[in-house]
Amino acid sequence: MAKIMAVNAGSSSLKFQLLDMPEEKLITSGVVERIGMKDSVFTIKLNGEKIEQITDIENHSVAVKMLLEKLIDLNIIASFDEIEGVGHRIVHGASVITNSCIITEKEIAVLESIIDLGPLHLGPNLTGIKAFREILPTVKQVGVFDTAFHQTMAEEAFLYAVPYEWYEFYQVRKYGFHGTSHKFVSARTAEIMGKKPEEVNIIVCHIGNGASICAVKQGKSVDTSMGFTPLEGIPMGTRSGNIDPAIIEYMSNKKNKSVKEITNILNKHSGYIGVSGISSDSRDLVKASSEGNHRAELAIEIQAKRIADYIASYYVYMGGADAIVFTAGIGENAPTTRENIINRVKILGAEIDSERNNCRGVERLISTDSSKIKVYVVPTNEEVMIARDTLSLIHN
Ligand code: ADP
Repeated sequence: MAKIMAVNAGSSSLKFQLLDMPEEKLITSGVVERIGMKDSVFTIKLNGEKIEQITDIENHSVAVKMLLEKLIDLNIIASFDEIEGVGHRIVHGASVITNSCIITEKEIAVLESIIDLGPLHLGPNLTGIKAFREILPTVKQVGVFDTAFHQTMAEEAFLYAVPYEWYEFYQVRKYGFHGTSHKFVSARTAEIMGKKPEEVNIIVCHIGNGASICAVKQGKSVDTSMGFTPLEGIPMGTRSGNIDPAIIEYMSNKKNKSVKEITNILNKHSGYIGVSGISSDSRDLVKASSEGNHRAELAIEIQAKRIADYIASYYVYMGGADAIVFTAGIGENAPTTRENIINRVKILGAEIDSERNNCRGVERLISTDSSKIKVYVVPTNEEVMIARDTLSLIHN
């Protein structure tokens, strides 16, 4: 048995799960928030109990040290060497890192060289890696990349129809994100169906605050809705998804704002919150919509239409689909959203069973027995995927 730490480092946060592998048993999980600010919050969950501590945590290294010492204090580990590997969720590997790998100086240099491709996330990811390397210098660090699963897309799917030199010299192309989730969920769906991944075509709808759709043909990602950045694709909690790019210059002139400011609005103040004016949280929109708020209803319907468009497009691109799967916060927990989307793609032969669909956060078939395409809810588990890859790489 090996204890593996799965880590997701953000600019001011660090989420972690400690798992016993290969059993995939969760030992403990938690999060450090407000790193670098006053009153940082350290939360750890153990045996269903939540322990919270508020103190100033200067930086990620201090957070990592505190986390590891806490594991000793709580008798979860006897010493730091019990942790055999640390797996980091990394947002971007560009076209350079196309698979999970051990992180050495070389990979750190590569990540530093592509930081422009995902500055908001890659910087913090690197900070997390460096913090663990400093405190656990002999423990292998593994990177698991959000973009890696989509590296199987063909040129026709990942290239934009822009001057080719934008791709050649500036790496402008579709990368896709949520790859770890799409890979986990599609593989698990094939397993539930009693098939090998190579035997089925699956459309995965990862709908959370961030959201993307992925066409998984015979186990490989062949297209996905997020692009060069996570802004492309379907509307999300705060992101617009696809718009006519000419709107950017137009609104920049109208509002006298820079391209950067307009892009920030498209990332942070659009989607659910932009259309509804109420909230980026789907629960608030469902409630407001049921009380007759038209803009809340519109925010939901615009997203559902766009998701249905992607499903139909991927169905055609793959030459058919055996399953459509819902995952992440909304996909796992919002039966009405799932029903709305599947009703829009009925023509393809997908039929929802309302009774089966009345579930939250569980793995379940939610289509009727006569549905030509099976529809499932499969909770995602990126941490398990990170721990699996970490375990397999540290023992190689
Ligand atoms: P992130 O992209 O931040 O990981 P999540 O996958 O956690 O996002 O999804 C967050 C979304 O999931 C929110 O819009 C939230 O309303 C929705 N969600 C979470 N739980 C429920 C629930 N029980 N019912 C409906 N929606 C839910």
